[in-house]
Amino acid sequence: MPVTITRFLQAVLISVFILSACQKDAEAPPESPTIDSASKTDTAQLDIPMGQLPSDVTPLAYQLELTIIPELEEFSGKTTIDLDISESRDHFYLHGKDIEVSKVQLSDGVRTFSGEYEQVDPSGIVKISSPEPLQGKVQLVIEYSAPFNQALDGLYKVSESGNDYAFTQFEAISARLAFPGFDEPGFKTPFDITLVVPENQVAISNTPELSSEIIDGMKVVQFAPTEPLPTYLIAFAVGDFDVVEAPDLPPTDIRDHPLPLRGIAAKGKGEQLAYALEGTNAIVTALENYFGTPYPWAKLDILAVPDFSAGAMENAGAITYREALLLFDDTATPERKRRYKMVHAHELAHQWFGDLVTPAWWNDIWLNESFATWMAHVSMDMAEPEANFRRDLLSRGLAVMTDDSLVSARQIRQPILSNNDIATAFDGITYSKGGAVLSMFENFLGPDDFRQGVRNYMDEFQNRTANADDFIRHLGAASTGQPGDVVIAAFNSFLEQPGLPLVEIASRCDDENLSIHLKQSRYFPLGSSGDRNQQWHIPVCLRLGYADEDTTTCLLLTEKEQTFELPQACPEWIMPNADGAGYYRFSMNQQDWTTLLANCDRQNTNEVMAMLGSINGAFNSGDLDIATLMSIAPQMIASPDWQVATAPTEQMNFMYERMASEGQKQALELRFAEYYSAKLDDTGLDSINDRDKAQLQTTLVDFLAKTAKQPELRAELVKMAKAWSGYGTDNQLHPDAANPIIVGTALVVAVDELGPDFVDHLYQLAVGSTDAVVRGWLLDAIGNTKDPVKAAEIRELVFSPGLRDNEIYSILFPQVLMPETRDATWLWFQQNMDRILSRIPEERWGRMTLVGAAFCNTEKRDEVQAFFARHIDSLTGGPRNLAQTLEGIDLCVAKAGQHKTEMDTWLGL
Ligand SMILES: [Zn+2]
Repeated sequence: MPVTITRFLQAVLISVFILSACQKDAEAPPESPTIDSASKTDTAQLDIPMGQLPSDVTPLAYQLELTIIPELEEFSGKTTIDLDISESRDHFYLHGKDIEVSKVQLSDGVRTFSGEYEQVDPSGIVKISSPEPLQGKVQLVIEYSAPFNQALDGLYKVSESGNDYAFTQFEAISARLAFPGFDEPGFKTPFDITLVVPENQVAISNTPELSSEIIDGMKVVQFAPTEPLPTYLIAFAVGDFDVVEAPDLPPTDIRDHPLPLRGIAAKGKGEQLAYALEGTNAIVTALENYFGTPYPWAKLDILAVPDFSAGAMENAGAITYREALLLFDDTATPERKRRYKMVHAHELAHQWFGDLVTPAWWNDIWLNESFATWMAHVSMDMAEPEANFRRDLLSRGLAVMTDDSLVSARQIRQPILSNNDIATAFDGITYSKGGAVLSMFENFLGPDDFRQGVRNYMDEFQNRTANADDFIRHLGAASTGQPGDVVIAAFNSFLEQPGLPLVEIASRCDDENLSIHLKQSRYFPLGSSGDRNQQWHIPVCLRLGYADEDTTTCLLLTEKEQTFELPQACPEWIMPNADGAGYYRFSMNQQDWTTLLANCDRQNTNEVMAMLGSINGAFNSGDLDIATLMSIAPQMIASPDWQVATAPTEQMNFMYERMASEGQKQALELRFAEYYSAKLDDTGLDSINDRDKAQLQTTLVDFLAKTAKQPELRAELVKMAKAWSGYGTDNQLHPDAANPIIVGTALVVAVDELGPDFVDHLYQLAVGSTDAVVRGWLLDAIGNTKDPVKAAEIRELVFSPGLRDNEIYSILFPQVLMPETRDATWLWFQQNMDRILSRIPEERWGRMTLVGAAFCNTEKRDEVQAFFARHIDSLTGGPRNLAQTLEGIDLCVAKAGQHKTEMDTWLGL
C-alpha cells in the first residue's frame, strides 16, 4: 500500500495549504490573467491601478463602525477615512470587494459632496468619484453592507453546537471584503474601531475596550485607537465566547508595565486554553530580550478559531489560531505541544517583525515570514535551551531544498506584479529557505552582530514601513568582522535569485600545506533542464578533523571556482558544512566521502543531517546508486537521533511508492522490515512523553505498518483502533485506550483491514465531536478508504456541511495520493473543481493544481496540464503552482526511471 511518498506528499500538500502560520503561497509570471483581462476590458479607464495604488492619495486615519450579528447572513458598516490628496483630482482609487454601498460622502472641511462608488475590477479595485475636484485634507465616508464570506476569507462566520461566531482573516488582500480602504501594507494608519454586536455577545479587536454600552438592545463596544497599522493586521471576532483572563504578564527589565493576556475560544472550550496561556510569558520574554524593545501593544489576546484556513494569523494584539494549535487536553502529544510553541513564537515574533515594522510592499513579505520563522526557533531556543528547536529550523531548510531545486522555484524576494504574485508569495521558499538563509548569515556575522543589526533596524523603523535594503543595510553596518558591502552583496545573492547552490570541495595537502578548492554551481536533479551556471557569495564553513580535536574555518566563496591556501595542518577528514549552518549542498570525491562517513560519530547531529541532505541530493541527481545508499542506511538507523535514524525512510518510500512493481513490493516490505524492525524495540507502542523518542515512535510505526506492512504490528494497531473508537462495543470514544502518538496510524490501518463498516463508524464519531484533533484523526482515516464504492461515497464528504471548510483536505489529499483511488479521484476532481473551490479562500485556488503532484507518469502529466490550462485564468496563483506541479512530475519520472534497474539488481530480481 501507498505510503510515504504518499505520506510525504500529503504532508507537503497539507503544509502548503496550512503551513505553520499566516500563510499564502507561491507565485506567477508577469503576464498575469488578472492584469491582462482587466486591462483589456477596461480600456476606457486606463488609469485603473492594477498593481499598487498611486501614492498621491494617502489614508491618514480610519474610523470603522461595524454591526456584526453572527446569526445573520450579512453585516453592515460605516467607514470614515481621513485622506491626504496631494494633487487636485475628481476621482481616485481604493479597495472594496463585493460590498453593497448605500452612501458615499466626501468633505474637504468646507464643502460636502455625495460621491460615487464603483467596483471596477473583480479583484476589488474601487473608483471613488467626486462631482468637483478635491485636494488636501479630505474625509471620505462610506456606508455599506456585505455578506459574511463563505470560504474562511475576509469577515466570515462559523457555527458550532448551535452557536454562531464571526471571525476575520485579512492577510493578504481580504480586508477589502469587510470594509472599503487602502488594502496595501504600505498604508499604515491608526484605526478607531467600534463594533455593534448582540447584547449578550463578546466583541474582540486589536486594542482594549474603551467603553461598552447597550443601545437599543445592542452592545456598542468602542476600542482604543490602534497604533499605525496596515489593513491586513486588523481583526474582529464576535460571539458568545469563553473568555479566559490569564494573569497579566509581569513587567520585565525591558517592559515597565504588566501586559494583559486573554484566551478566547468557542463556548465550552475555554478551559482547553490553559496550556497555551501558560506558555506565553516565556516566549514574550525571550522575544523582548532579543529585540531589546517591549511587546508593542496594549494587550494580547489569543483566539482559537473553530474553522480557519491558515495555521495562525498575527493580527496586532489579537492573534488567531486554528483550534488544533491552541487547545489542549490531557492527551495532547509532545509534538503537538511543540508545534504550538513554534507557531505561537512565530506569531508573537510578527508582533515586532511585520506589525511594528511592516514591509512597504508584498515583495518584502519575506521580511515578515522568513524572519518570524527564524525568530520562532531562536526565541524557543532561548526559552527552552534543552529542546533543540534550532534543529527544526535546519530540518525545514533541508526539506525546502527540493522545492528550491525546481527550475520554476521562486526567489525569496520576488517582484510582485499581480495578485497572482501575492497569492504565491507565501510558500516554503519565503518561510523555510528564508529562515535558513537568515540562519546562515547569523552564523556568518556572529549572533551578537546579527542581533545588533536587527535591533538597529527595529529602532529606526518602528511604527513605519521598511524594505529589504533597509534591513540588509543594518546587518552590514552592524557587522564587525566583515565589511558592510561584503555582507550586503552576499545576502542579496541569496535573496534576489532562486535556486540551491552546490559546492564541490577538493582538498590537497603537501608538506603540511592545506589547499582547499571550492567550485559552485546551481543544483538540479535528474531530468531537470535548468542552467547550472549560477553564482552566489556563499559563506562556506568547514570543520577540519584531527586525531583528537577539530577546528572550524569559514571561507567566502564569491567566484565560480576559488582556491584557498589555509594555515591549518592536513586534517584527517573535512566536513564541508560545519554545524549544517550553510544553505547549500556539497559534493566531494569518493575518498573524502569515505573518510567523512567513517568519522560520522565525530559529527554533531546538525552535520549528519546536512550530510544526509547532500547524500539525498546525490541520489536525486543520479550520482549515487541504490546499493550504495542502502549500504549507508544501517549506520544511519543505528543513530540515537530520530531525524538521522528515520532519514533513510524517505528514499525507501520513494522506491516502494514510485518504482516498485506489485511483485517487487512484497520483497521490499521484507527488506525494509529487516532494516527497521529491531529499532521499534527502542520505543515500543506505549505512550511516550519525551518528544524526540515520540517522533521516533510515530515515524517507525507509520513506516513499519504502512510500507513494510508488518502483520503483527498491523494487528496490534487494529486492536488499538477498535478499543479507542469503541468499535463493536459501545461506539464511544475511549481516549485512554490508545497511544495518542500513533492512534492516527492505527485508525488508517484499521480502515484498511476492517473496511467500509468501520469507515461508517468513524464518520459517526467525527460528526459527533467538536474536538479539532480527534476529528482530524477520524477524517484522515476516512480519507484513506480504498474500497472503490465506499471511496466514491466518502469523496462527496468534501461538499458536506458536516465537514468544516478546513477539513476537506483530509479527504481530498489521501484520495488523490493513493494508487488505488488516484485515477477515480482525479476524474471526480475535474468534474467538481468549482464546488471544491467554493470552500477555499480565493487566493489559495491556485494551489489546487497541486493535486496533479500525485502523478509520476507522462500521460497523466499531459492530462493535468491540459485540464488546468483551461482554468488557469480563474485560479489565483495558478500559473506558478501549475508549473511547479508539472516540473515535479517530470522529475519524478526521470528519477524513478534512472534508479529502476539498480533496484531490480539490489533486490536480486
Ligand atoms: Zn507568519
